[in-house]
Amino acid sequence: MRHLPELFELERIAEAGLRHNMEVRRLCEVDAAGQKLPIYALALGNPDKHIPAAGFFGGIHGLERIGTQILLVFLRSLLKRLQWDPVLHRQLESVRLVFMPLVNPGGMLLDTRCNPQGVDLMRNAPLDAVDKVPFMLGGQRYSSMLPWYRGSADAPMEIESQAVCTVVEEELLARDFSLALDCHSGFGTRDRIWFPHAHTLAPIPHLPDISALEDLFSQTYPNHNYLFEPQSHHYLTHGDLWDYLYLRSEQMGKRIFLPLTLEMGSWLWVKKNPRQMLSRKGLFNPLPSHRLQRVLRKHSVWLDFLTRAACGHRRWLPQGAERVQHHERAYARWYPGLKL
Ligand SMILES: [Zn+2]
Repeated sequence: MRHLPELFELERIAEAGLRHNMEVRRLCEVDAAGQKLPIYALALGNPDKHIPAAGFFGGIHGLERIGTQILLVFLRSLLKRLQWDPVLHRQLESVRLVFMPLVNPGGMLLDTRCNPQGVDLMRNAPLDAVDKVPFMLGGQRYSSMLPWYRGSADAPMEIESQAVCTVVEEELLARDFSLALDCHSGFGTRDRIWFPHAHTLAPIPHLPDISALEDLFSQTYPNHNYLFEPQSHHYLTHGDLWDYLYLRSEQMGKRIFLPLTLEMGSWLWVKKNPRQMLSRKGLFNPLPSHRLQRVLRKHSVWLDFLTRAACGHRRWLPQGAERVQHHERAYARWYPGLKL
């Protein structure tokens, strides 16, 4: 029997959370190495659908354990604060917080990016890119033995992807305002906040809202070091789960759903400690304990900010002339070649 410490910790958190009215949902089970591994969703706060929500997702790629670990640390600190912090209790009356820290437990157990079926869950949504994607990396249907496999064209979505869709549809898209953060690692030397699209070079309709959210964060925490940009600046993909869910929310009309991805710059960790290149784990995760601690610490401000930004969205979502300004600025910055 192989041990998956992240799942163990998630289950301890779920147990401890029951005392604090945390809702724990066991969505489904996946088979991996002869074991059955559950996929959980945890929720805190007001379930009223008129209340905004923030969703946190991690472990979609099994090798990127650090994303799961960041969310587990965040959950632990929320649980601790629930014991003594009346301000958090008041905050949770006006926001819903949803967590899926370990979407792909089978992949994490097996030390693979994909799920146990060999499918890359970030290429698995029923959505084709409309602009040119890079060969292979953009998603391929040749073989599950090769990376970035989308799954076969006539198969339903993998159960892990379906579990994410269920939680997003029920907990986030059912509300007038929600945002999501999906935690990944493995790209570049800086921590990036990516927003859609990934299936087209075209900007999203909520570009002004993303721009306003970035301003809000930068003015509240001027020393942060995140780079905000559309994923399409780097590469396009088929089957992006967040594009798919964003388009779903657009079809539902009149609601705002802002899906963001934290892409931690793991090349920096490799640069500081080149021996990490010798292990697959080392390419995606900080290995020395001081660096791991620093990484676990540094994102807590951003996670906490998102819960508050969801809570206070009416005070910062840009309207009227301000919205036009954000629109123009965002186009000039991120889409300089495009006409408004
Ligand atoms: Zn990833």
